[in-house]
Amino acid sequence: MAMKPTDISAIIKSQIANFNQHISYDEIGKVITVGDGIALVSGLTNVEHGELVKFECGIFGMALNLEEDLVGIVVMGDDRNIVENSIVTRTQQVISVPVGDKLLGRVINALAEPIDGKGKIGYEIVRPIFKIAPGVMTRKEVTEPLQTGILTIDAMIPIGKGQRELIIGDRQTGKTAIAIDTILNQKYKNVHCIYVAIGQKNSTIAQIVDQLDKHDALSYTTIITASASESAPLQYIAPYTGITIAEEWMAKGQDVLIVYDDLSKHAVAYRTLSLLLRRPPGREAYPGDVFYLHSQLLERAARLNENNGGGSITALPIIETQAEDIAAYIPTNVISITDGQIFTKESLFNSGQRPAIDIGYSVSRVGSAAQTKLMKKIVSSLKLELAQYNEMLSFAQFGSDLDQATRNVLDHGAKVYEILKQPQYSPYSNLEQIIILFATKYRLINTIPKKELSKYINNLLTYFKINPKATKIASELNESLDWNNSIIEKIYDIIIKFNEEFIKNIPSYNKDQYLEVPELPWRACKK
Ligand code: ATP
Ligand code: MG
Repeated sequence: MAMKPTDISAIIKSQIANFNQHISYDEIGKVITVGDGIALVSGLTNVEHGELVKFECGIFGMALNLEEDLVGIVVMGDDRNIVENSIVTRTQQVISVPVGDKLLGRVINALAEPIDGKGKIGYEIVRPIFKIAPGVMTRKEVTEPLQTGILTIDAMIPIGKGQRELIIGDRQTGKTAIAIDTILNQKYKNVHCIYVAIGQKNSTIAQIVDQLDKHDALSYTTIITASASESAPLQYIAPYTGITIAEEWMAKGQDVLIVYDDLSKHAVAYRTLSLLLRRPPGREAYPGDVFYLHSQLLERAARLNENNGGGSITALPIIETQAEDIAAYIPTNVISITDGQIFTKESLFNSGQRPAIDIGYSVSRVGSAAQTKLMKKIVSSLKLELAQYNEMLSFAQFGSDLDQATRNVLDHGAKVYEILKQPQYSPYSNLEQIIILFATKYRLINTIPKKELSKYINNLLTYFKINPKATKIASELNESLDWNNSIIEKIYDIIIKFNEEFIKNIPSYNKDQYLEVPELPWRACKK
């Protein structure tokens, strides 16, 4: 069949109309200079702040400084592969990382690429790493405890799900140990954990991975590392990668715990970037927006309400201080952003009080809202007793003639501090904590010599696991929501009996050296 000229012109017209659709063009720029992880690029006139760009050699970068002629780009990788005049292409995306359950048990770098030699991570979903924190209306107050398994913290500085609690102290005072023990304690508690290591030694990170593996904690944990040997841009984005992975779980209603170890090094990485980008330095040479950097990050920890899935992210940022100076720039910033701090002290650490938590300086602003009723009532007077003890201790140094009441306070306080000592990698269960605190509150430890206390606590906890009568009460206690006189009496009587047996095995025990155990107040009245 012959074609009419009008048909041909119609075909040509329709092709012209669709012509634009087939054209694709990349917006490209050229590298002018590169060095120290920063590339200055010309020609990317429409690039957006925070946008991912691709260098000719395949390395990615992020546009951070948008100036009239040049764009300052931080290089996410080895900048030695980038040469002058090479081409840079826009991607029109912000940095995104894979998220999801497949990341559990894996060690990844700041770009979420696996580095544990366990093969590729087959992921389905990606999320942009820079996002705005959940708004007020999607949130719920913090009411549920997130148990650390560390007696000092769970008793006196309780942490709730969705809270941000800072761990702050000098170097080598057990900060990381507190965070790792908290991760270990989440076993069987259905909390996913993320450990972000920023600017740390590779050997330290390897040790941590090893310990988590040894204690079967790797199956519910993701480790993100941007070690000291990696470039400042990677150290800068590592915590955002972590929180992005956490957010995906939170959106599904999961509880998540994230540790940033540590944010001082994160601030240093950001300062390096900023100075190289020639942004003006402020206090301690940090850029002006370093506060915003951390508040933006920590605000993303939240507890969502039921309409939004009810998930939570609890954040434990760590800050290293110099000579216990918590008034330096970065420490004060992060203290003001978080809902409380756990302060570790070198003098306590060196005197053998480990975990070396200074109870006077440490605080949880969520407080007892994040404690069960059982726990709340059993520790009601503990912090005060220790404060009294510390005050009297400094007085007692001046005088030798102390009255009986003062001696009682000193004796009890010293024993409580002894009980608060806890080795690494051995978190207590909630029930164990309550039994220990019960023995403390009702002064059942009065008759036990101080140097026998650690053995005493161990044996007592074992007793509650193997003695039939004691296990029955332990399970009753586990199920009860509040204290009542009958259960208090039962536990009291069992511990009294246990004490008698325990004391029998102490060689050359002299009863007169020790205070008596007071009777329960309501029973004393009856007598
Ligand atoms: P850094 O500043 O180097 O990061 P850090 O403050 O994180 O140090 P850790 O690495 O946690 O401190 O601990 C320092 C040392 O103290 C480690 O060798 C650790 O094994 C030991 N340690 C920490 N907590 C305890 C504890 N409760 N009991 C005994 N030893 C502990
Ligand atoms: Mg550490």
